[in-house]
Amino acid sequence: MNVLLIGPPGSGKGTQGAVLAQRLGVLHIAAGDLLRAEVEQASPVGRRVQAMMARGELVPDLIILALVLPAVIQAVDQGGYVLDGYPRSVPQAELTRDLSDSLGLRADLVVYLDVAREELMARILARAATEGRADDTEEVVRHRLQVFEEATSPLVAYYRELGVLRVVDANGPVEQVTQAVLALVERG
Ligand code: ADP
Repeated sequence: MNVLLIGPPGSGKGTQGAVLAQRLGVLHIAAGDLLRAEVEQASPVGRRVQAMMARGELVPDLIILALVLPAVIQAVDQGGYVLDGYPRSVPQAELTRDLSDSLGLRADLVVYLDVAREELMARILARAATEGRADDTEEVVRHRLQVFEEATSPLVAYYRELGVLRVVDANGPVEQVTQAVLALVERG
């Protein structure tokens, strides 16, 4: 089973991704975590993306693809993936389509975690108090939400058109959202 999780910042992609992957017995891949690991190691990629991430901008398509692709290949080899945070724009989705088809990596389902916009900032600022992510300041979060609306939200129509989109109400408690996603995944 291969699942893509998309949703705005603060929608719970990372949290749901980890739990869902565990319940489905597949690997969890988080695009943002792969990038943050590069930044922490101060690798050449990490040095290249650090400032972009801190500003809340998307990193270049080929950089994120280069990080995500090996992880996805390995996950498929081991039974599947829940991938959160990629793709994040229609160009990224298109870039990946032929590639994932020819490599047998294509997602079975795309789950959109739908959360009321006014809820998102509050969730992220609450998390910021404990996690201390460099991009969780109010100003940067506002920019990330704007990047989501402009670049990422068109993916909803894109995947709906392809017949693979499932929308989940993600306003409720974590376990309730997990159950809703699992029900959809089981239905296929
Ligand atoms: P959130 O969804 O809360 O913004 P993520 O951890 O998914 O958190 O992403 C953090 C940052 O990593 C993004 O703001 C962006 O800079 C970068 N990033 C993650 N995924 C991608 C992607 N697919 N394309 C470009 N940049 C990305």
